[in-house]
Amino acid sequence: MNKIDAKAFAASEFLSQPIKMHVGGKEVAASNGQTFDTLDPGTGKVLAKVPSAGATDVDAAVDAARQAFNKTAWRSMPAKDRAVLLHRLADLIDQHTPLLAEIESKDVGKPRAQASAFDIPHAAQTFRYYADLSVHTRHREPFAVSGNDAWSVRQPHGVCGFVFPWNFPFLLIGWGVAPALAAGNTIVIKPAEDTPLSALLFARLAEQAGFPAGVVNVITGLGETAGAALSSHPGINRMSFTGSPEVGRLVAEACGRNLVPVKLELGGKGAAVLFDDVAVDSVAEALAGAVTLNAGQVCCTATRWIVHKKVAEAFISKAASTMGAMKIGYGGDEATQIGPVVSEKQRRRVLGYVERSVKEGAEAYLPGGVAEVSGYKDGFYVKPALLGGAASNVCAREEVFGPVAYVMTFQDEEEAIALVNSSPYGLANSVWSSDLSRATRVAERLVAGNSWINAHNLFPHGVSYGGVNLSGCGGGVLGPDTLEDYYRKQSVVRPL
Ligand code: NAD
Repeated sequence: MNKIDAKAFAASEFLSQPIKMHVGGKEVAASNGQTFDTLDPGTGKVLAKVPSAGATDVDAAVDAARQAFNKTAWRSMPAKDRAVLLHRLADLIDQHTPLLAEIESKDVGKPRAQASAFDIPHAAQTFRYYADLSVHTRHREPFAVSGNDAWSVRQPHGVCGFVFPWNFPFLLIGWGVAPALAAGNTIVIKPAEDTPLSALLFARLAEQAGFPAGVVNVITGLGETAGAALSSHPGINRMSFTGSPEVGRLVAEACGRNLVPVKLELGGKGAAVLFDDVAVDSVAEALAGAVTLNAGQVCCTATRWIVHKKVAEAFISKAASTMGAMKIGYGGDEATQIGPVVSEKQRRRVLGYVERSVKEGAEAYLPGGVAEVSGYKDGFYVKPALLGGAASNVCAREEVFGPVAYVMTFQDEEEAIALVNSSPYGLANSVWSSDLSRATRVAERLVAGNSWINAHNLFPHGVSYGGVNLSGCGGGVLGPDTLEDYYRKQSVVRPL
């Protein structure tokens, strides 16, 4: 196993070696020798050739995870001993932040400064949070019953499968796998084909932290082959999928056939409701920042801006000027605020939505379009767009997943609530008002997994984050309940 030395190991060195998957503690190519390309979205050029796993490779990874579950001390070691390893992993993540942030920035296109200030440390913190929570979780709990000595015992499920999307590859690994590992499960990860690299570094770091071989396995491959093979595998005990509702349905169907419990974290069409008592300029700046974060490729971000008629004109003017002034550029450039979107396919999707929206009658306060970035002519850059108009417009209803906001106006509270709740999605919304009792009242009536007040995109460890309706089911992430999801509870009874 390659040991990573933080000083000697650079992104260029990682990328210059053949990229391998991580199965049973070994670095392996796909059994059929096939590879696919992962691109740098900022240059449009190939970043690395990555193994393209098929069903045989997925079998090997699930088998390695099963062997590690059955034959190593991982599942049965005291929670405090596993927590030591999880803390060591978190420390290694921190120590390798420059490497991880550079790889994440090159693979996703996101500003490197954002990856190193947020994505990577947030993931490290997720491991610490679940490590500590698992230590304070009671392994055995008595039932208060008469005539019997009875208790319940928390056991890990076994092998857990994870399929992830491309927008926050490393951060989402933390959200997904940290509770599963803390509970004593073993895992198989299938990262998105657009962004497979940081998952491979994660597996190496886990092993360097002292996790037994086979506890963490990573297979890289296409969704319809490797992803489908993992989610329909009869050898997994639990499945977690993060991605689009369309693929989520396929994964849930496959798990349903095997009676494997599945957790789905899906897309969103988040709203921000702005009352007329806010400081308009600062809210406009905050929402401009939210919708351009990660080039708008954020499942829960505010893309529907529902603004009180009295302040709409001033708000739109400030938001459009703020978004229009943002620096679009390569993720590795310090000044960059908006990097490229992840692929040419994603760029076509974003541009197509803006075009359809305008054709359907939306007003374009900021028209969006292709962005030219000097020195990076083949990168997948788009300009932010600010549109507005009727609630029936395609950009008011569907997830664009790009730096595109859509403004609608309202006169009274009920109208605003109805507009937010007209969406089939239910991930996250925010309410902005200086009247906290009104903000609380409205926040609690918005149908979604998360409501935020006077802020958008809040992810504190210890607060559950999940979606309802088209945005997900089967639980969420980041909260104490997610650790519970990764234990099976077994009752034991002895007549007295
Ligand atoms: P996607 O659904 O296209 O792909 C997600 C993953 O599924 C990828 O790894 C892909 O390879 C895999 N996949 C594709 N076909 C598959 C199949 N038939 N069987 C099994 N796996 C398959 O999503 P995406 O385009 O990568 O990500 C964007 C979506 O993810 C958006 O809808 C976004 O809102 C959502 N998302 C949700 C959250 C959340 O926490 N709720 C977080 C991030 C992203």
